Amino acid sequence: MKKIAVLRCLRVSASCAGSGCLRAMNEKTGAFERYGDEDLQAVAFFTCNGCKENKLPNQEGIAKKVERIKKLNPDALHLSNCTMPKDEDGNRVICPVIKELEDEFVAAGINVVHGTH
Ligand code: SF4
Repeated sequence: MKKIAVLRCLRVSASCAGSGCLRAMNEKTGAFERYGDEDLQAVAFFTCNGCKENKLPNQEGIAKKVERIKKLNPDALHLSNCTMPKDEDGNRVICPVIKELEDEFVAAGINVVHGTH
């Protein structure tokens, strides 16, 4: 059994139900194909709110979420596709805030995987 966490983008979540990420996890497609026959357990599906552009309160709450994920110690943390939007050439570019979070998770020994579906 692999414990999986998914991190997605607040701005994109305004119009995204997360169904693409969850379907890929349930059907082991996309970036979840790598787990083969291994059972997967979703332990967190959380949203980055580290963006200084949004008007929501409690932006610092992202630090609490990071600590919770560290305590959960998932086998993998997947960065959803929306945290790596495509540039005009079609190349995925990781959000700089997400990159900082990734570095923090990696430093805590968590396996970070780019992509979901
Ligand atoms: S910091 Fe990046 S990933 Fe986080 S909400 Fe803003 S744009 Fe989305």
